[in-house]
Amino acid sequence: SRTPLIAGNWKMNGLLADGTALATAVAQGDASGCEILVCPPATLIHAVAQALKGSTVKLGGQDCHAAEKGAHTGDVSAAMLKDLRCSHVILGHSERRQDHGETDAQVSEKALAAYAAGLVAVICVGETEAERDAGDTMKVISAQLDGSVPKGATAENTVIAYEPVWAIGTGRTPTAEEANAVHVHIRAHLSGGLGADTASGMRILYGGSMKPGNAAELLAQSDIDGGLIGGAALKADDFLAIAAAS
Ligand code: 13P
Repeated sequence: SRTPLIAGNWKMNGLLADGTALATAVAQGDASGCEILVCPPATLIHAVAQALKGSTVKLGGQDCHAAEKGAHTGDVSAAMLKDLRCSHVILGHSERRQDHGETDAQVSEKALAAYAAGLVAVICVGETEAERDAGDTMKVISAQLDGSVPKGATAENTVIAYEPVWAIGTGRTPTAEEANAVHVHIRAHLSGGLGADTASGMRILYGGSMKPGNAAELLAQSDIDGGLIGGAALKADDFLAIAAAS
């Protein structure tokens, strides 16, 4: 009953011509049976919005500031994303946690800003390789969920993305069963804080080296409700092949 969400995180890639061409190609794909979302860098959102006009492909940002507006040089507010026809915003990606020192508490504040602007927050969690090797995966994920997901999260305003840090951009992935075990844990943990109905309706995406070759197996798992795709989202054919596998 959870509609799969296939989301492309373009990260810091693409100039105007590439981004417009990629969005145009994605818009021409077959999105039946799933929701498709693209999250370009902030500089391309306006142009991508034009390229997506008339299609069902949704648009999102890769981050937003927690404040409504003001003296925050270089930052983008949730309302600014909404103004450009975004419906979603990725928050707490591990690259932002690493590059910008974002904490769980900050991610939660950003999610509240997203809700206030009418955006769906795509909140990312995931363990490092050292944490997995130490057997701490479930503990780490639980703590990230507790700190990053606001009490007001619902199945409508929030999507969780499970992205093992060691699988991002490496070509390595957990097995589909290993990934699903973490998704099952995430849903059970969310159920404790948000209630069973919310947890059973909330989509939990897998991210980390998802490609056309491994997508079908991952997406067939009971609790994997879509993908957050980096590298493979930069090629329309690959991205649409993943969507077709959902
Ligand atoms: P890759 O698909 O390039 O591993 O990136 C995953 C990711 O970080 C998506 O947010």
